Amino acid sequence: MAQVRRQANLPRPSWGWQDAAACRGEDLVLFFGPDGERQPEREIRERKAKQVCMGCPVRSECLDYAVSRPEKYGTWGGLNEDERASERRRRMRRANAA
Ligand code: SF4
Repeated sequence: MAQVRRQANLPRPSWGWQDAAACRGEDLVLFFGPDGERQPEREIRERKAKQVCMGCPVRSECLDYAVSRPEKYGTWGGLNEDERASERRRRMRRANAA
């Protein structure tokens, strides 16, 4: 019973921002890519995904979400995996310096 009560009090993640996502209805492959994808196809695909992200009204919420979780794959908030890893490190350095 206490276990149930504790779970009920846990904060729930907010997914409301996804309702306004510019990528709603887009092909997921545009954001996550097919298995075995190589260059230059990957770069071309990511550029197209990032163009969608640039016009997205919830870009910062999406990026915050992806950077704060171990989202290893895909384009989130206009950044690919490597760019998000850099952003995550940058935010950690900033938080540690504060
Ligand atoms: S920023 Fe990009 S990936 Fe994130 S919700 Fe918007 S369109 Fe989708």
